[in-house]
Order: sequence, then structure tokens, then C-alpha cells
Amino acid sequence: MALNDTRNDTRTDTRTEVDVVVVGAGVTGLTAAYRLEQAGLAVAVLEARDRVGGRLLTQDVDGVRLEVGGQWVSPDQTALLGLLDELGLETYARYREGESVYIGIDGVRRTFAGATFPVPAATEAEVDRLTAVLDRLAAQMDPLEPWRHPEATALDSISFEQWLQENTDDAEARDNVGLYIGPAMLTKPNHSFSALSAVLMAASAGSFSHLVDADFILDRRVVGGLQGVPLGLAARLSVPPSLSSPVTSITYDDAGARVATAGRSIACRHVLVAVPPTLVGRIGFDPPLPALHQQMRQHQSFGIVIKVHPTYERPFWRDAGLSGTAFSPYALVHEAYDNTNEDLAGHDPRGTLVGFVSDVRADRLLGLPEAERRELVLASLAGYFGEEARHPVAYYESPWMHEEWTAGAYATSFDVGSLTRYGPLLREPVGPMQFATSDVAGPGFQHVDGGIRMGEAVAERILAERG
Ligand SMILES: Cc1cc2nc3c(=O)[nH]c(=O)nc-3n(C[C@H](O)[C@H](O)[C@H](O)COP(=O)(O)OP(=O)(O)OC[C@H]3O[C@@H](n4cnc5c(N)ncnc54)[C@H](O)[C@@H]3O)c2cc1C
Repeated sequence: MALNDTRNDTRTDTRTEVDVVVVGAGVTGLTAAYRLEQAGLAVAVLEARDRVGGRLLTQDVDGVRLEVGGQWVSPDQTALLGLLDELGLETYARYREGESVYIGIDGVRRTFAGATFPVPAATEAEVDRLTAVLDRLAAQMDPLEPWRHPEATALDSISFEQWLQENTDDAEARDNVGLYIGPAMLTKPNHSFSALSAVLMAASAGSFSHLVDADFILDRRVVGGLQGVPLGLAARLSVPPSLSSPVTSITYDDAGARVATAGRSIACRHVLVAVPPTLVGRIGFDPPLPALHQQMRQHQSFGIVIKVHPTYERPFWRDAGLSGTAFSPYALVHEAYDNTNEDLAGHDPRGTLVGFVSDVRADRLLGLPEAERRELVLASLAGYFGEEARHPVAYYESPWMHEEWTAGAYATSFDVGSLTRYGPLLREPVGPMQFATSDVAGPGFQHVDGGIRMGEAVAERILAERG
């Protein structure tokens, strides 16, 4: 068995008492478990799926190695970069040579270089002005406490769509600025979350300018895939996570808890519930969680995005001087990138694109038969890259929205008005239980980096409590 691979580890954890039970073997839970073990605590990790990694999965599909879930790393994600170093995982730059493609409000396809879309000068000036306003708002925010923003109440009481309408009359500028938050990040329509949530998304990445710069926010990939992080963490635990072990109930008081799966019950002093907020309610708590905790999680919901992976005999767009990067607020696939595994260069001549279909467009697509979905997605990619895009040798759609233990993508966010109302409870423990995933992170919100930060923070809190 390779050091960073737990998939063939057949040891089973039969302990009935430990210091800490971690529910969920995503990157958040495993980071916490690893740090707690390093500090000398006995930790048991219980995972519902038959694998570790949660929303991180690197998988061979039809002979192509795909990043089914999270994959990119940006320079501000220092917690993730540090852990990659610690685990001995290497990164490489996302392919970005050549021109990108943009389809505008007039339906015309244009190529461009750099981060500025080829729009009329007046629209470009509006995009720049709105970017400066959002950068200023983001700079005033501590992403760990967005509810303390000087304009928090006003920004949380209107949708981001309304904010955009109030701030510009230029439809294409509005659609472009909106693209970076709704479809591209929260994967929800801009009318369904608040302007404050939009500012949080920007602040969590350092600035709005970072989000509009694909070369920054999607800078690097991990050799072998980003699932190497949870696999590496799991392999370093003294006892491997118990797989196929969904936690069904937690009985707790101030002194500790008993965490149960269908076949097992473990007594412990501390619990980390490292599952998305939307899945916390599937666990039976005795006593029930406090009322406002239950309310809070009813106002958090997953967005929806279909990540599509067509593979071609070769990366044909490169021959045409194209980078594979494409954007349009008006196309079914609102963004696409060259996702060829560069670490395989020389071994595999094929080229892979990755594209995203988000929010209401994803809803509509999911209502269609598989063949029709594929045809529409490939037609949209052909609009960017030409007719060859219609003829992949392999095609795959990431299935997160169908999966019981995720049920959406990329992450969860609050509905309008709820960030100020419930935000202060986001990371509040209940008795011996802590709650954390990337969904409740500040810096790195919704990203692997945020999950690692949350895992580290919870581990520190538990260790501090023990003195
Ligand atoms: C398609 C897609 C693309 C993405 N792209 C990027 C990207 O490029 N870069 C980036 O940084 N991030 C990206 N993300 C987001 C990133 O993957 C997540 O933010 C991160 O992996 C979340 O980790 P987590 O441990 O907090 O939660 P999860 O990964 O959701 O882990 C929670 C775990 O809990 C388990 N679980 C749930 N309920 C129970 C239960 N009752 N008992 C036991 N176990 C349970 C689940 O099976 C899961 O393993 C992407 C996500 C998706 C889906």
C-alpha cells in the first residue's frame, strides 16, 4: 500500500472509547483528526461513504484520470499550500497558454488575452468601477465575521441581483460581475443570496479582483489530484477511518458524548461533526440541538453545478492558439478550462476540457435524458472552441447533486438576511460538540483551504479546552 493511500487498508477500528470522535472524513475532519493525534489524543473517524475525501475525489473514468470534485489551488490558500508541503504533494500550473474566448450579450464570440473580457469600452469601465466598489466592501470585511461589516445590515437585506441593479444600468457589466459570484462560486442565482454573502465570497479569497482573475483563483493543480490531501492525512492516522459508517445518533451532555452508527457506539469526551450543515439534521441528537442551531441550518443550502469533463484525442484548441479558457454569462457552459493532466504529458496525448453548468441552467439540464444533456453541453463548448468540441472520446458529468452524502456543489451558503441573523452561531459549539466544514470557513470559505483552516482551528480549540 502506498503511503498516501488508505484504500486497501483492511484494519478495522473496534475501540469503544476514545478522546475525540470525528464524524466525516472530508479534508476538514481529517485535518482535525491528524492534528489531534499529533498532540497525543486518541481519535476515531467515522465516515458514511466507502472512501475518504468527501467532496474531493480523483477517479479514473473510461481510462481518464479526472478531478471529480475540488481541484484548483490559489496563491492566497496558504493553509492548503502548507499542508501540501507537509504531505509531500507537488503542484503544477494550470494550462493557460494562448487566447481565451468570451461570448457577449450580442452573441458574438471574441478571443482575448489577460483577465479583461472583450466588451465595449463603456461596459469595461463599468465592470472596473463595480470591481473597485466590491474590492472596497471586501476590504472592510473580516470573512470570519461578515456580520460585523459596517454595512452588514443593509447588504444582507437585499439580494446580490438587486444590488447589481441598483449599482449599474449596464446589463452586460451586471451579467459579468454577477457571473463571478452566482454561477461561478455560490452556484446559485444572484437573486437567492444577499449582497453581504457576495462580499463574503470576495473577502474570503482576499478581494473581488482575485475572483475575476482565473490565473489567480485557478492557479495550480496537484500532481496526482487534490484527493491526495485527504488520502495522505488518512494514511498518517494510527487507526484508519471507519468507512461505510454513517453516524446515526449522538447522545451528549457537558461531560462527553456517545456517537452511534448502525453497528457500533463510541464514548468520547469531544465530537467534531465535520459534515456539511445540510446533513447535520440527518443525525439524531439527544437532547435535540438548541432551537437557533436548528433554524440556522435550515437557512443554509447547497448550490448546484454540473462539472462536465469531455476528453479528446488531443487538446485540439491548443493548435488554434487557444488556452481552453472560456466565459459567457449567456452560454449553457458559463466557464471552461483546459484540464489536461499535465503531469501525464508525454504519456497520454489526449486533452481534457472541464466546463461548468450552474444553478437554474443545471436544474433544467438535469431534467433531460443523458444523451440530450451531453449534446447540449458539447454544443455549448463548440460555441467556444469550434466543431471538434462536439466529438470527445470520453465524456463524464460529476454526480455530486445525486449523492446522498453531499447533495449539491460546490458548498452551502445562506439565504437573504440569514448571514447577519445566524452567522454568529456558525462556529458555536454545543456541549462537547464542534461543527466545522469549509462551508463555515472565513478565509477559504467553500474551498479546501477553508476546510483545512477549520480543521486546524477545531483541533486547537479542543486542545485548549483540555489545558
Ligand atoms: C465539483 C466541485 C468542484 C470544486 N472545486 C474546488 C476547487 O477547485 N478548489 C477548492 O478549494 N475547492 C473546490 N470545491 C470545494 C471543496 O471540494 C470543498 O469545500 C471541500 O472538499 C469540503 O471539505 P469538507 O471536509 O469541509 O466537507 P466534505 O468534503 O463534504 O466532507 C464531509 C464528509 O462527511 C461525510 N458524512 C456526511 N454525513 C455523515 C454522517 N452522518 N456520518 C459520517 N459521515 C458523514 C461525507 O461523506 C463526507 O466525506 C469543489 C467542490 C465540488 C463539489
